Amino acid sequence: MTGVARTIVVIEDEATIAEAVAARLRSEDYAVEIAVDGPSGVQLVERLRPDLVVLDLMLPGLDGLEVCRRIQTNKWVPVLMLTARDTEEDIEAGLAAGADDYLSKPFSARELAARVAALLRRSDRAAMSRPDALQLRIGDLTLEPQSRRVENSSGLVHLTPTEFDLVYYLASRPTQVASRDELLLQVWGYEIASGGRTVDSHVRSIRRKLGASTIRTVHGIGYAVDQ
Ligand code: CA
Repeated sequence: MTGVARTIVVIEDEATIAEAVAARLRSEDYAVEIAVDGPSGVQLVERLRPDLVVLDLMLPGLDGLEVCRRIQTNKWVPVLMLTARDTEEDIEAGLAAGADDYLSKPFSARELAARVAALLRRSDRAAMSRPDALQLRIGDLTLEPQSRRVENSSGLVHLTPTEFDLVYYLASRPTQVASRDELLLQVWGYEIASGGRTVDSHVRSIRRKLGASTIRTVHGIGYAVDQ
């Protein structure tokens, strides 16, 4: 922390949830602003340029997926998506639209705060230049950590920072299998590993972008990238 409050925009039409989320985050010294529908959420993000967005999937006006796409158009901002239903379709649609993590309702304020802190740590790490991190070539993939660029044989591929970190972590340990818990700790920065489905959903999103064979599933154990 630099002493300057981090700004978080909460886009949520259910007032009780929005207020509870804002109260918890304010108690942790974040500056929080609330928008209650999609269009005003997009405007608020454009005006404030927040450090993070907590975004409900089901919103009047514009749905959360469209809001997520619009706020990512000019500049990447970490997005924690709130979903009413813990379904694969909702989660994967959210990740495909550019969300970095999701939380299913009902959730505890403590869990929300932990996810927000982890996402901000990850975004700080992404913003730092990592002069010690090496370019990796694996198969037809080139991973460039400073610029977070990924190229394969068909050209430049856009990955979210979380997707990049996940592939980079696995690719820097070729053939080694990483468990979901290890990935949650190392890539997501969770102190308490829970949420293996977050890992699975990100792996599926990466496979859609980079090809099914990019990441190998080791059943019952976790994931690996092969040389
Ligand atoms: Ca809603």
